Amino acid sequence: MISKHMAPYMEGNKTVRAMFELGKNLAAEIGAENVYDFSLGNPNVNPPEAVKQAIIDILNTEDPHVVHGYMSNAGFDLTRQAIADNLNQRFGGEGAHYAAKNIVMETGAAYALNVVLRTILDDEDEIITFAPYFLEYANYVRNYNGKTVAVPQSPETGFQPNLDAFEKLITPRTKGVIINNPNNPTGVIYTEETMTKLAAILKKKEEEFGTVIYLISDEPYRELVYTDVKVPFAPKFYDDTIVAYSFSKSLSLPGERIGYLAVGDEADGAEELLAALAVTTRVLGTVNAPSLIQLAVARCLNEKVDVDYYKKNAEDLYRIVTEAGFEAVKPQGAFYLWVKAPDGDDNAFVNAGIDCHIIMAGGSGFAGPGYVRLAFCVDHEMILKSEPAFRELAAKYF
Ligand code: PLP
Repeated sequence: MISKHMAPYMEGNKTVRAMFELGKNLAAEIGAENVYDFSLGNPNVNPPEAVKQAIIDILNTEDPHVVHGYMSNAGFDLTRQAIADNLNQRFGGEGAHYAAKNIVMETGAAYALNVVLRTILDDEDEIITFAPYFLEYANYVRNYNGKTVAVPQSPETGFQPNLDAFEKLITPRTKGVIINNPNNPTGVIYTEETMTKLAAILKKKEEEFGTVIYLISDEPYRELVYTDVKVPFAPKFYDDTIVAYSFSKSLSLPGERIGYLAVGDEADGAEELLAALAVTTRVLGTVNAPSLIQLAVARCLNEKVDVDYYKKNAEDLYRIVTEAGFEAVKPQGAFYLWVKAPDGDDNAFVNAGIDCHIIMAGGSGFAGPGYVRLAFCVDHEMILKSEPAFRELAAKYF
């Protein structure tokens, strides 16, 4: 039988599963074209053509022993060098000066975060994150017997982190702080001002406790931005930063499982940390990130999916939802719309949505009760067709 450690994960899985089944059953009952499913953050825009061409070319021209073989645990040198060069090109003005040794290739951001947490956590150590948050963080922290400490959500600051509450929650056991920018589920981009203040608090606490607190910047949505606001480059603000990046969203490759960790030389214990991250990558069991797609992304670092498609979706869904009378946060990035449950009960709101054939994810599943998340990485036509359904939903409340 399964271990007692699995019980809480299985419980959480039931909710996700229930939502998935519900959408499927409803589609079978009334036709998929009559269901407005905003539940899943699965990119619906195609990967750039260049990715396919790169894969074909690599298979046709490169040595199969290299393309499909083992490599060093940190990944192919050529991919790591290409990523370092690309980051230096894009963020050199903000202090980026990476070399291949600063990059560790990982099996997507999910695994990258697991690798970081395994590397830095001892039992009962604490990881702080800001609610609402991608709830897998809590599972990942639990994987290594750590404790997730959530700073309460802060609608009053437009879902920028509540830094006063944050400062009070930092203890000598705090090993890391996870931020996600642009944010899932709120669609908000943390500002330069937020990053400056957050970094100042972390530096102060490191000095006060004589500890190292890593800022783990989870950035799978970095390129999915719909405003002129620039996503701050976290290491510019705080030396002890570990960037966790993924190509799942920027190149629409979630099934390929490819991303990386980046640690600058300025980070406390950088050399030892980077060596440990590579070893952790091996001992947790993936050994190295998948080889073919490592080679392919190295050739596609300046490629992007059709961000304008998501932007159009963001604008139309925000318009439809707010014109129906709901309060929502205007998405600045990622592909989520964060909507307030009119009476504060997100479970009831989700159920009322189902009655109108709208599938939404309850905020409680993101430690953000009182809100729901609508993923707009969906067909644009579905968004336009959903307008009457949102009006019907609004009529239940207003
Ligand atoms: N972090 C956040 C905030 C996410 O939303 C996701 C996926 O949806 C991940 C990490 C994991 O992404 P990956 O596919 O790179 O593992």
